Amino acid sequence: MRDNNKIAIVGAGVAGIALAILATKQGYQVSLYERASQVSSIGAGVTLWSNAIFVLTQMGMEKEIMRLGGIPSFMRQCDQFGAVQSELNIEELNTISGFPSVTILRRDLMSVLANALDDLGVKIQFNCSITALDINELKQKFMLVVGADGRMNSVVRHYLYPVKVQPCYQGFINIIGISRLDKGVLDNVIHDYRGPGERFGIVPINDDLCYWAGGWSTPMDKERPLSTWYDEMHQRFSHWPKHVQHVLKYYDKSSLNRIFVHDIEPLPYWHQGNVLIIGDAAHAPLPTSGQGACQALEDAWHLALNLGKYEELDNALSCFYQQRSVKTSSTQNVGRQLAKKIFGGYSGFQPTSGISSVSVEQLSEFWMKGLI
Ligand SMILES: Cc1cc2nc3c(=O)[nH]c(=O)nc-3n(C[C@H](O)[C@H](O)[C@H](O)COP(=O)(O)OP(=O)(O)OC[C@H]3O[C@@H](n4cnc5c(N)ncnc54)[C@H](O)[C@@H]3O)c2cc1C
Repeated sequence: MRDNNKIAIVGAGVAGIALAILATKQGYQVSLYERASQVSSIGAGVTLWSNAIFVLTQMGMEKEIMRLGGIPSFMRQCDQFGAVQSELNIEELNTISGFPSVTILRRDLMSVLANALDDLGVKIQFNCSITALDINELKQKFMLVVGADGRMNSVVRHYLYPVKVQPCYQGFINIIGISRLDKGVLDNVIHDYRGPGERFGIVPINDDLCYWAGGWSTPMDKERPLSTWYDEMHQRFSHWPKHVQHVLKYYDKSSLNRIFVHDIEPLPYWHQGNVLIIGDAAHAPLPTSGQGACQALEDAWHLALNLGKYEELDNALSCFYQQRSVKTSSTQNVGRQLAKKIFGGYSGFQPTSGISSVSVEQLSEFWMKGLI
């Protein structure tokens, strides 16, 4: 028999834990299932733009996030020789948005979220890999089953779309990592270096810590040994500006990760009956959008609000899709357009017009849409 106060969440990533916190605070009884044995910290770091900090502020977590993270002042886009092409004044963006933009290591973000959930007395059920059969059972027992089970193999998305939604490989690889540098090297500026079919982004977290991603266009080859990808990265970027050289000299080897970058197409629906997908499972964008975790947090906030607002579950979920799908589809498209400009499929490179083509006002308006 279904209990109208119970919510099952599949996946303890950003979206799943944030929703678990918000729904618990609203009085729902939440069961959160995670296939891994602990909260994952995959991905070196994330930039939580003002929209994400808005949500974290509503959750009462912004101080802890800001304690662990950094607030960069500028994002500077340069060519592969270091010549500045354009600049984004992040301080101005923050002022216009009313909330800061915070850079943070992925493991710190996840531990702040996991601790907040623990403080509410909710235990994540680890080593619990949910299957389609489990979803059949869960949807009988719970008012709502939420798939927050990520971009690549979401079981809940597959449950909703029997013709499997295939994540699309976008023709480029990212190698990510964390480096400790000499104090002040990065000047509190996000550096975004771009060359033909290649990009190296460096994001400061504090005076001597940063995360970074080196990317280039390439066919996907999962058989190739990891070490050869890392060697290729060193070769490709060996003549790039000094910041890149610093980062490649001082990275923590255990933080390295190779990602064949995929996204998914915008989907025509995210729910059927009492089964719903959110976060990357519903609308995974490319990292070039810089918005995946931010949109996952927005999902959690909007969904929790709608559950409190509508008596009928179907109205709450339909309204959720209407509220969220335009913004998340735009985010997916922005990520794709930028990736195409930089990595250009496999065929040729078109110089980008740079971040300066979007004003801070426009950026702020887009990111804060639907929140304030
Ligand atoms: C290189 C890179 C850089 C990025 N940089 C940024 C950035 O700067 N800013 C930003 O906002 N975003 C960034 N992102 C995107 C961001 O990391 C994701 O969009 C975000 O983590 C999505 O959260 P999620 O909770 O939907 O999914 P995930 O974080 O992927 O969580 C899904 C969880 O579900 C679990 N799971 C999966 N299947 C099952 C199952 N069957 N049963 C139980 N559990 C299951 C997984 O183990 C995982 O813990 C970046 C991504 C990449 C790849």
